[in-house]
Amino acid sequence: MIKAITGTKDILPPEIPKWKLLESIVNNVFKNFNYKEIRTPIFEETSLFARGIGEETDIVGKEMYTFLDRSQTSVTLKPEMTASVVRAFNEHSLGKLQSLNKFFYISPMFRQERPQAGRQRQFHQFGSEAIGGSSPLLDAELIIIAYNILKLLGLKDLTVKINSLGVPQSREKYKNLLREFLSGSKNYLSEDSRKRFDQNILRIFDSKVESDQEILKNAPLMIDYIDEESKNDFEVVKNLLAESKVPFEIDPKLVRGLDYYTKTTFEIVSGKVGSQSALCGGGRYDLLVEQLGGAPTPGVGFAAGMERILLACENENSLNIPKEEIDLYIIKIDKDLSSKVFELSLNFRNDNLVVEFDYLDRSVKAQMREANKLNAKFVLFLGGDEYKSGKLNLKNMSTGEQQLVDVNNYHQLSEFIKK
Ligand code: AMP
Repeated sequence: MIKAITGTKDILPPEIPKWKLLESIVNNVFKNFNYKEIRTPIFEETSLFARGIGEETDIVGKEMYTFLDRSQTSVTLKPEMTASVVRAFNEHSLGKLQSLNKFFYISPMFRQERPQAGRQRQFHQFGSEAIGGSSPLLDAELIIIAYNILKLLGLKDLTVKINSLGVPQSREKYKNLLREFLSGSKNYLSEDSRKRFDQNILRIFDSKVESDQEILKNAPLMIDYIDEESKNDFEVVKNLLAESKVPFEIDPKLVRGLDYYTKTTFEIVSGKVGSQSALCGGGRYDLLVEQLGGAPTPGVGFAAGMERILLACENENSLNIPKEEIDLYIIKIDKDLSSKVFELSLNFRNDNLVVEFDYLDRSVKAQMREANKLNAKFVLFLGGDEYKSGKLNLKNMSTGEQQLVDVNNYHQLSEFIKK
């Protein structure tokens, strides 16, 4: 038997209602904040991600699904959305049509990581990119959007962490300070962190190794070395969050994995999903649009992992999903009424009712069992003596009441059932 590829998951029908609920909340919240949906292709030229995300990052260095297509072009299944949205923004000169573009998306993503709870190789993200504004109001707005969506899902055990990485000039100075601080203890760092020391020193803060964290305990913190403008913007973000009643904590070690961030970065973590606790993360990327060939244009965005969010919902038992039901089940009493039951259900379905009947020529008893299993609100019995005089028996399944209805007047019946 062929099975799904490691790290991918089928989303089977019983799970769909919670996905639909999440998607509808995402759609609604973004609509209220006037974000427009964008959909980009599943794969892109590899160079987009290499240039956009950064060669030294984990994503580009070891997680991308990259392959040569038949024309020997190197293509990659998208591991995240920001680079793709910026590519589309540049390609269609969207900045010329509108000075500020606020996008949102829902899309599968692909990363070849070690699968574990909350970590898959194909997973789904929703998220947003606001391109064209440097105002910290946008940073705060995005954090609030992400927080609101999680709150609307009923999640309680949430922590919003924020930090500022400053601009590249201040960051370079800080990196030198950190390098100086760590130079004496470099040999005591873990292998990964030693690599990061040379390639992407800020990411040392992401290390989960205890001895690394011990060494980092007294390290200088970037937040103390950022430039004036970043500092002021960070103050604005903090004040707006406080005024909007979004509880947050400052995490000076929140550097995030990607190269393109400037100024504000943030993450929302759940206390209920184990070690892969980040539900969403994002930040400002004022240099990325230019880096990918566009005019200098500031941007800010975030991405949220949908599987992980649903896992948190499950663990907090926060979703109240109504049980699935159908409006009408038509029970065929006489076996030779197959084309009649087909026609009748088509009429009701065209009247926008959810209708089911038996395709397998089962007994009346088995059909009744099926109607119960499907939580039918009404059952209509097709056949018998009444049918000869143009009448059918309709049973209300919640009250048990039965009544004779006119088989030819199905519009009226549809209205009755809808009520
Ligand atoms: P990132 O783009 O790495 O900042 O990820 C943003 C969010 O996507 C994370 O906070 C996770 O919720 C989710 N995410 C990232 N990688 C995975 C993965 N391999 N499997 C499931 N969710 C993921």
